[in-house]
Amino acid sequence: MTPPGGDRRRRACAAGDRAVAQARRAERAVRTQLYTRRGSVELIDGGGGTVTVSPPSMPRALRIALLAPPWLPVPPSGYGGVETVVALLADALVERGHDVTLLAAPGSRGRARVVPLLDRLHPRQIGASVVEADHVARAFAHVESEALAGRPYDILHDHSGWVALAMADRLTVPVLHTVHGSFDADASRFYAAHGAKAAISYISRAQAATRPDGLAVDAIVPNPIDVEAWPTDVPKDDYLLWVGRFSPDKGPHRAIRVAQATGRRLLLAGPVQPGQERFFAEAVEPHLDGERIRWVGEVGGRAKQELFAGAAAFLMPIRWPEPFGMVMVEAMAAGTPVIAFAEGSVPEVVEPGRSGLIVGDEEAMAAAVAEVAELDPADCRASARERFHPQRVAARYEAVYRAIAAPETAGAAADPRGGDGDARGEEAVAA
Ligand code: UDP
Repeated sequence: MTPPGGDRRRRACAAGDRAVAQARRAERAVRTQLYTRRGSVELIDGGGGTVTVSPPSMPRALRIALLAPPWLPVPPSGYGGVETVVALLADALVERGHDVTLLAAPGSRGRARVVPLLDRLHPRQIGASVVEADHVARAFAHVESEALAGRPYDILHDHSGWVALAMADRLTVPVLHTVHGSFDADASRFYAAHGAKAAISYISRAQAATRPDGLAVDAIVPNPIDVEAWPTDVPKDDYLLWVGRFSPDKGPHRAIRVAQATGRRLLLAGPVQPGQERFFAEAVEPHLDGERIRWVGEVGGRAKQELFAGAAAFLMPIRWPEPFGMVMVEAMAAGTPVIAFAEGSVPEVVEPGRSGLIVGDEEAMAAAVAEVAELDPADCRASARERFHPQRVAARYEAVYRAIAAPETAGAAADPRGGDGDARGEEAVAA
């Protein structure tokens, strides 16, 4: 039996469904408009009339929002690969004349306009979803409020963790998500489920090659390094150097064995992050003698640069698909050759015989220590400058932004391949 008022309620529900469907169509139209900038769109307004929406035509300079992770300021004072990349990219994009907003953790600075999202840093909660969700929700609110105020961003370039990509299709602004990590089982499942919600870029071909089936490759753009910011006046010492997180993948224990095999001094630098205490205590600490094998803690600024520049060789005995490895290009910028295992991005970053050597195991790494003494620090620096200059990297991203934000004008504006898409370690694929 139909309850009293049932018909009225059904009619109200049907009208509600129609209104929701209409709002969805309108949202899709606006989104298409923002993505493609094809003239104006007509929308049906609530009263049955029409409203014409004419977004601004694509300006030469782009309005770019860069979203950094919430965990550390940009640039970081010590450890922080992604934050270093975002800092260099933001400054280089500003130098190219773009209007850049950096959405980042408090304490961030640079040449872009900085919008700190959270009130404070959360060093004890790195990776906590409560922090990341708060950070991203505030970023999305900022991006949408700029659009509503008539100042839409052309692109949101996301360098943060998971939340922004998972929700990227809720924004009216096109999103480019750069994958900074490796594709372990959890990440692969996540990208398979949510990767179609934004354009996706990678930081090495090796990283892109391990993506889950079906995940798009909109671009491959290497990380930048500002070689000119590294000192050239630091005298060379004879120590070997390892810098990184104290996780088994990164191989500090293997670097120790190489130092022991060669009889050379080894300096280790980096933080012991939450979860790494046991590995550090068992595999590293027992070998520290304060002299031959020494841990100098977490380093930053000029002290870090001098540590890199004074080393005879940088050791990279990794056993994981390293997506890029900022420490390798930093060593090169400091004029220090890199000896690395052939894992992940290594063959795209190290030029054997010019900026270092690629070897298969610890024994070969120990033998290579004498060989790299022949390499010229100036060649290491040149190798980094030629391929990873922030302006080169920013130009690649700019082409990708244009291809995503306004596909029909991107060809004329810039070729995302940048004309030398086959260059080693630096390749961008058109969207
Ligand atoms: N780093 C630092 N101080 C340290 C240890 C590391 O500033 O004590 C920096 C290092 O120079 C590099 C970054 O942290 O810029 C690590 O980035 P990388 O890509 O090498 O490794 P991951 O992001 O996988 O940790």
